[in-house]
Amino acid sequence: MADCSGGRDSRAIDSRGEPPSKKYKTTKDSVFDKYWDDSNAVERLKKIAELLTTRDYCFCLLKILKCNADKGNAFSQAYCETSTNSKETSAGARSIDAYRFSTVFKHGYSMVMNYTNDRNNVPERRGDRIALERLLNVLINLKDIEEALKNAQSAKEVDWTITLAHHLLRNLAVNQTYVVDNHYAGRSCICFCCKQTITGSFGDTSIGCTAVWHGYLDLILGSEVPVKAAEDDDEVVCEGNKSSSEFPAKHRDQLIAQTIVFSFLQKKEKSTYENYLIPSIGIAKKQVVLFLYDSEHDILLESKLIKLWSPGGHIITSAVLAVWLAINFSFTCSGVTEHMKNCGFTADFPKQVGKELKVYEKCLRFGCGPGSEVKEMFEPEVYDIFNLH
Ligand SMILES: [Zn+2]
Repeated sequence: MADCSGGRDSRAIDSRGEPPSKKYKTTKDSVFDKYWDDSNAVERLKKIAELLTTRDYCFCLLKILKCNADKGNAFSQAYCETSTNSKETSAGARSIDAYRFSTVFKHGYSMVMNYTNDRNNVPERRGDRIALERLLNVLINLKDIEEALKNAQSAKEVDWTITLAHHLLRNLAVNQTYVVDNHYAGRSCICFCCKQTITGSFGDTSIGCTAVWHGYLDLILGSEVPVKAAEDDDEVVCEGNKSSSEFPAKHRDQLIAQTIVFSFLQKKEKSTYENYLIPSIGIAKKQVVLFLYDSEHDILLESKLIKLWSPGGHIITSAVLAVWLAINFSFTCSGVTEHMKNCGFTADFPKQVGKELKVYEKCLRFGCGPGSEVKEMFEPEVYDIFNLH
């Protein structure tokens, strides 16, 4: 029920207070209530969320047939040949077991559906609530975001990455901090399109271990989600119904390598996740792809390519919803399903890397790049007696 006393700013749900012990009540100023003022918008959101149950938004399981994950290859050198679990039907046609977004991100999907069914169905858990608040705010401001991303369509990769982070990705994230790879040439703390100072920073985005797959991520959102921004030249252009079924090969291999390394790393570093199906996002100027890996169950998922723009030149809202689910996976993702566990189609990553699996389980870290290593070599206490001038 709406609290009509007013006066409470919607940002109050962002405060660092105790989580509420009783059902959260919206206020007339909260975005949850405001969004319901336009019943058309609510109906639209509901219909868009329902697309997450369709073939347009699904994942396939991948098996690794060959890769170079057992050697000290940088992500840019990563090689990974995969197959999907396609079967031949009795009629001789090909069929692939696929998993809906609404199945993989059951929590996030329910959050949106519950809210669009009843304005009082605001999530009780603070993190969930902030996640939903972020989504609604982005949808309210989608026109401005669309303009910003349109303006950056001709920008070079670093400017595209920053515009994307500044106008879309961070606004969708519960944790809005982000770090951009400081190896980008011509980097600037000013957003290309609006000349605003960005709230993220440039830094060391390296992950992994130099004995195995390792390298620099383009962007890390909230120290939880790696993002790869694809280059213009290699981009697949989707025209009408014609589109590639895969992200460009060079980026796809890198993305798989990043996804697996990041997932093992998060498993080692974070003990608080409900599950360890961890996503990576690949995003080009016209399309998005998601990969997820769970190192506990050796399950690797690849999404269908998701188009970002409608033929009329507008951002596709369901694509925004898909990216929101991935970015906030710790609140939205429900982990590998029983069907995935029992279908007998694992990624076979342990088989591919053999004894190097131990390195993936125990030795991965943030800051593994050459710069970080040099720093480490000179860190031991024995050098503390040096009085530098
Ligand atoms: Zn801008």
